[in-house]
Amino acid sequence: MATRDLVVLGTASAVPTRARNHNGYLLRWDGHGILFDPGEGTQRQMLNAGVSAHDIRWICLTHFHGDHCLGVPGVIQRIARDGVGHPVRAVFPASGAVYWRRLRHAAVFADTDVVAEQPITGDEAWIDTADAPFALTARRLSHPVEAYGYRLVEPDGFTMLPEKLTEYGLGGPLVGELQRVGRVTAPDGRTVTRAECSVPRPGQKAAFIMDTRICDAITQLADGVDLLIIESTFLGVDARLAAEYGHLTAAQAGEIAAECGVRRLVLTHFSERYSAEDQLRFADEAAAAFSGDIVLAQDLDRVPVPPRRRLEPTSGPGTTSV
Ligand SMILES: [Zn+2]
Repeated sequence: MATRDLVVLGTASAVPTRARNHNGYLLRWDGHGILFDPGEGTQRQMLNAGVSAHDIRWICLTHFHGDHCLGVPGVIQRIARDGVGHPVRAVFPASGAVYWRRLRHAAVFADTDVVAEQPITGDEAWIDTADAPFALTARRLSHPVEAYGYRLVEPDGFTMLPEKLTEYGLGGPLVGELQRVGRVTAPDGRTVTRAECSVPRPGQKAAFIMDTRICDAITQLADGVDLLIIESTFLGVDARLAAEYGHLTAAQAGEIAAECGVRRLVLTHFSERYSAEDQLRFADEAAAAFSGDIVLAQDLDRVPVPPRRRLEPTSGPGTTSV
């Protein structure tokens, strides 16, 4: 349940290729799965990737170009067919509600009532994340049709240090009370605070940014994230096409990652115009600006969220994360 990774279901842009399915990404976060932009064929790619309809808690669409939504009918019918019992929230630009309705009811099937729609409007929107261990926001991007990017933020916490707990003679229920209340009376009568027995644990962050030209919302979404999944439709040689169609180049994706202090950069949504031999050029062009970890996404990849940053003093094995 503590798995945090990106299951890549498809990496093509408008036109799939023999090697790349239409878009599709399942971000798995402690059992809370967010399915981003299910393009055509996503249901079968889920089978190939070993993930199930039960893994989906949210379906988040960036916009209604076909490569980002044509898989919705199959995925929802599968959710119904497999008897998924938990709520599945469907998040999409409200301006595309007419397309959502068509996709949602594209064929005859025994329907389900677990899908709850959450259309979003405005420059920034907060998504209902219920009991999930993170907040999810969306920001409007810059594309020929209204498009949104998404940002996931886990709240900061703290990691208990067993050696400190031992030093203060704390164990059992006293540790739980210290975590909950922030201070506790030790067996010797001293008042011990949580800060004395723990180190801060920064929450992890991820961002999902598809079809857009350069705009301020990109840096707001990607600021300080551990994992950035971002379109890099074009190589630099086609930068004018990228600007014209409202897309990014690999070099721009790398510049964004560097500016925002990203830890792991996942490049995807590649134009079909490039051959297999061109693929490494995407990573090279992004690496010109970004020295962090770069993943050139392939269909069915599993990309882990980087290990949590540790603050000093370094906590050893056996620490209790809360
Ligand atoms: Zn698009």
